Amino acid sequence: MPLDEVMDAILGSARPSGSEEVELVEAAGRVLAADIMSDTDMPPFDKSAMDGFACRSTDLGRPLRIVETVAAGGMPEKEIGEGECARIMTGAPVPRGADKVVMVEDTEEEGGIVRVTRRSADDNICLLGEDIRAGERVLEKGTLIRPPEIAVLAAAGRTSVPVTEAPVLGIAVTGDELTEPGQSAVAGMIRNSNGPQLMAQAAGAGLPSEYLGIVPDEPGAVSRLIERASGRIDVFIFSGGVSMGDYDFVPGGLEESGFEVLVHGAAIKPGRPLLFGFREGDWAFGLPGNPVSVFVLFEIIVKPFCFRLMGHEYRPLEVTARLENDFVRKAAARTAHIPVRLTPDGRAMLLDYHGSAHIHAYTRADGILRIPARIEKLKKGDEVRVIVPGPPRLASGS
Ligand code: AMP
Ligand code: MG
Repeated sequence: MPLDEVMDAILGSARPSGSEEVELVEAAGRVLAADIMSDTDMPPFDKSAMDGFACRSTDLGRPLRIVETVAAGGMPEKEIGEGECARIMTGAPVPRGADKVVMVEDTEEEGGIVRVTRRSADDNICLLGEDIRAGERVLEKGTLIRPPEIAVLAAAGRTSVPVTEAPVLGIAVTGDELTEPGQSAVAGMIRNSNGPQLMAQAAGAGLPSEYLGIVPDEPGAVSRLIERASGRIDVFIFSGGVSMGDYDFVPGGLEESGFEVLVHGAAIKPGRPLLFGFREGDWAFGLPGNPVSVFVLFEIIVKPFCFRLMGHEYRPLEVTARLENDFVRKAAARTAHIPVRLTPDGRAMLLDYHGSAHIHAYTRADGILRIPARIEKLKKGDEVRVIVPGPPRLASGS
């Protein structure tokens, strides 16, 4: 199945989650479940943008008498008349009569009289309601809540926020060869990299997760684990055991547990045996066991899927870069992903990379170069697309 059809099948199976109300500061990383309206104008009054003197713009050529001082949080008591000014602080309400704040750096003051020494065109006043009007929508349902959205919610007077429920990820790794990092590695054993990697990826995406441990390569083990955890988990993620080997029990396990398999096999590299299925209220991914496959597939497929469940259209950031090296491959049937290093001037450098077991290559990479199916060769200087894994961001196109 080509990558775009895989994405359509997986994203298309998502059902919107319910919603809950959380405390404002707990809302970071979540997705708004409703439009948010402002209860006030922003700014709520004509506000000085500078420390200086509020006066009439027609009076700049003459000495100005200081009639009062207005601090942030205070209210002016006097109206500014001809030849008058008020000393004013950043964030303080501008007195009536004044249409300009001259910044203190552009003045000289002596004995309660101010002279303007330098004229600027800027009025240094943030006008009432110039950012947002009371009753206006400040944030749209489906918005990912990041620190600036938290700031806007606070300014709109929200102490709690309606957000969609976040799916709980259940992370399990399969393989009789696996030992946990804390155990001593016996001959023939491989340390479990994928469990900790997936937990870190879930945490990086702000998604709650539970580690479900190592599943042995034997019939029945996968379905037993699913039944044990199913009340608590929304999205199961298995690593390993999804290919066609004699000991690959994940596809059968999902079917035993009543999952309908929508994807098994994808024209992507790494990740050909990718498995995805769903049953009422639960979803399951089977990712091939090599750590690079797990890393890449989580970033490009699992994360967009989890955000779709929450009602937010997330795609990883994709940038255009100039390739710094020549690239050739023999088989080009699949969309390939390889590690690259990005330079500040927009070049992508290939790294030493031995294939999907070589996760160490990604410790030097900051991007995933995507090579579309049927492209066999790339030359130095060619324009390429690079996926930059990272924290959740705005939906593409917005
Ligand atoms: P599999 O997809 O089960 O055939 O595994 C493919 C390769 O990935 C094998 O070499 C496994 O030993 C390796 N592998 C599987 N699971 C893990 C894991 N959790 N951590 C590190 N390597 C793994
Ligand atoms: Mg295996």
